[in-house]
Amino acid sequence: FNDIVPHTTHQYAAAQVNEISPPGDIHSFQEITGGAGFVGSHLVDRLMMAGHEVIVADNFFTGRKQNVEHWIGHENFELIHHDIVNPLYIEVDEIYHLASPASPPHYMYNPVKTIKTNTVGTINMLGLAKRVGAKVLIASTSEVYGDPEVHPQPESYWGHVNPIGPRACYDEGKRVAETLSYAYAKQEKVDVRVARIFNTFGPRMHMDDGRVVSNFILQALKNEPITIYGHGKQTRSFQYVSDLVDGLIALMASNYTLPVNLGNPTEYTIEEFASMIKRLVGRPSTIKQVAAVEDDPQRRKPDISRAKKYLGWEPKVPLMDGLQKTVHYFEEELQRATHDQRN
Ligand code: NAD
Ligand code: UDP
Ligand code: UDP
Repeated sequence: FNDIVPHTTHQYAAAQVNEISPPGDIHSFQEITGGAGFVGSHLVDRLMMAGHEVIVADNFFTGRKQNVEHWIGHENFELIHHDIVNPLYIEVDEIYHLASPASPPHYMYNPVKTIKTNTVGTINMLGLAKRVGAKVLIASTSEVYGDPEVHPQPESYWGHVNPIGPRACYDEGKRVAETLSYAYAKQEKVDVRVARIFNTFGPRMHMDDGRVVSNFILQALKNEPITIYGHGKQTRSFQYVSDLVDGLIALMASNYTLPVNLGNPTEYTIEEFASMIKRLVGRPSTIKQVAAVEDDPQRRKPDISRAKKYLGWEPKVPLMDGLQKTVHYFEEELQRATHDQRN
């Protein structure tokens, strides 16, 4: 099922025939903030396929209705146009709190709003969880480690973040979101889960996302120069979105309440990654170095022993398989964009 990205409810119905629900899975009310975004929409698919009632709250800042359109009209699905900075009164069993821009150009576009979303928005979701007794999973990030001095990064590392730099609105916003989660857990007995998500890619990433995977693939497909920011010796480790969704669901279902890294530990320099994409797409793009970005973390690789031990989780999808699916997705998106321009 993960090999395809179905676009219609019919395709889902066909896929569902082969889908076996995990044992012990029960019908419950799930809320996903940011559910119209890249990661959120894949999570929506998985929870809908498992037979849950799913409520998405999204303000469509970086998300799109198109990502969840195949569920619109389904009796178990509800899409609420809602900005999470405002209170939300609904009744749910579990909350996946994913609302927040995730790509650096998006979160730097309106830094104050990014901070409000991650602080006030998180307070609202914790307040909701407290009122209805729901479990809440907060989507944190590897950015809480900043430009790390410890490599690879275990959850016990406190991080190295510039509190007033251009990335601070996101990094510090997420750090406060974590602090809030444990304050509500201690003081109000809210049942919290914290996922520290590392770089994730796959179909439904936004075309203008500005992150390295979408930039490099689109540049290669359009036969434009592939842009490396700075020397290209900085590293990242990339996980495919279906692995992340497995990890989020396993974390929610577990009894483990401390932060858990979810990422793929296979590390590449950005220079290596550019060559891989160029070879994979197979067009004669050049690779060029452009100016470095400020405060760019130089190394990033998750230590996933905690997720392995407590969730029995580790990534399964090889990078090349995930990249092939993503290249195919961007090819279709480009064709769609060209078609729309002509009409
Ligand atoms: P995305 O931009 O595709 O999705 C974010 C969603 O949140 C969008 O649908 C957007 O419209 C919505 N949103 C933003 N502000 C909102 C607000 N104020 N109210 C309601 N909705 C709002 O990003 P993504 O990659 O799917 O990321 C999802 C979550 O995972 C984010 O919290 C992000 O910080 C976290 N994360 C992602 C990655 C990654 O590599 N994709 C890495 C680390 C952490
Ligand atoms: N909140 C919400 N939905 C709810 C319950 C609370 O959005 O179902 C918001 C509420 O607006 C409040 C925040 O969550 O500002 C924090 O709630 P809490 O109960 O901790 O704080 P209080 O209401 O006491 O300020
Ligand atoms: N990057 C790059 N070229 C691009 C986009 C990003 O060289 O067109 C680099 C960026 O400087 C960083 C890495 O790729 O070192 C990952 O960047 P991204 O914005 O995807 O995510 P980050 O992990 O920095 O949040």
